[in-house]
Amino acid sequence: MTKPESKLILKPGREKSVLRRHPWIFSGAVDNIQGDPKSGDVVDIISSENEFLGKGAYSQSSQMICRIWTWDHEENVDAAFIRNRLEASISRRQSLIDSEHTNAYRLVHAESDGLPGLVVDQYADVIVIQLLSWGVEVLRDEIARMLIEITGAKSVFERSDVEVRKLEGLPSRVGLVFGKDISKEIQIKENGVLYQVSVLEGQKTGFYLDQRVNRSKVRELTLDQDVLDCFSYSGGFTLNALFGGAKSVTSVDTSKDALELTRNNLKLNNLDEDAVEFVEADVFKQLRLFRDQDRKFDLIILDPPKFAFTRSQVDKASRAYKDINLLAFKLLRPRGKLVTFSCSGGISPDLFQKIVAGAALDAGVEAQVTERLYQGVDHPVALNFPEGAYLKGLVCLVG
Ligand code: SAH
Repeated sequence: MTKPESKLILKPGREKSVLRRHPWIFSGAVDNIQGDPKSGDVVDIISSENEFLGKGAYSQSSQMICRIWTWDHEENVDAAFIRNRLEASISRRQSLIDSEHTNAYRLVHAESDGLPGLVVDQYADVIVIQLLSWGVEVLRDEIARMLIEITGAKSVFERSDVEVRKLEGLPSRVGLVFGKDISKEIQIKENGVLYQVSVLEGQKTGFYLDQRVNRSKVRELTLDQDVLDCFSYSGGFTLNALFGGAKSVTSVDTSKDALELTRNNLKLNNLDEDAVEFVEADVFKQLRLFRDQDRKFDLIILDPPKFAFTRSQVDKASRAYKDINLLAFKLLRPRGKLVTFSCSGGISPDLFQKIVAGAALDAGVEAQVTERLYQGVDHPVALNFPEGAYLKGLVCLVG
């Protein structure tokens, strides 16, 4: 980390978002750069009127040329600064997470926790980091060491194998950063339910931690229901439906490995494997097949992967969301419930509701929203950073 010797001078009028404490600066907002900063260096951000606005991490080849560390002139961005932010973020979780029943959750949610580009997830005594920006890339080893010191975890593993790193000109990287070698499968508990997680190969950093609160919700809704869990991955909703007293559960995923993981997770919790019908298939096709077979369900969960990665994909993604929601509405019995999600940041909650409303209309059903769902409390959204809110869901009751 360097003392800020370099400066980003903004164009006139482009200081507004910085003053509102939005942490991103795009290259189009920068008038000129003084000094010779390297990616990851700390730079001062200066308005066109020569006023100090903040200090941020420079990223040479990204359109997002700077992510702001602090708006405080007095604050030095050094090891103590990073440690304070990590400690604050981790201690905030203590009052939010029921550690008796849950030992896997997000410790740092990047910008929203004041640490732009840094994702930290804990799975029992293993910590997984994901570095999404140059600012944290250059601090990798230091951050890993601090995380061990603060949490007492045994290992820090890196899963920086995400597409967005390309935008920063960073390579994909997976491997142990600090501590003891980790086993292929880690056992975690979430709301008292046990899961095997592979942080080496699993999706995201191993598990969809953001759905914890919504899995509990599904548990409340499933007594005596025939449940269809679409995009089921390692069975988070499937297991909770069974614990909630579901009459039957059908789990659909294209990934054979994911379905295998679900089987293992059922065993781990002493749940009856025969209670679940596993379908290895494309949900888009399978829903059509169920429609043609006149299969009906009482509760359907749609938790697809991200359909829109960029703004330009929003239209296509909207059509895909509408398609699966429309088919799901058709498969529901009267008084049936649809629990439907979108994790695409580009699809706002308003737009998502419109899409689902259009789907119900075209399916010829009347439905009400009975609940709105969000990402869990360990994935908070800083008020100055609305982009942090990406997961949204609706519970719809068919009339
Ligand atoms: N509901 C899960 C998370 C879902 S993640 C949980 O609570 O943990 C999305 C899942 O959708 C992944 O497991 C992926 O394998 C699967 N998937 C992606 N595209 C699919 C498709 N077209 N049909 C079926 N499954 C798909």
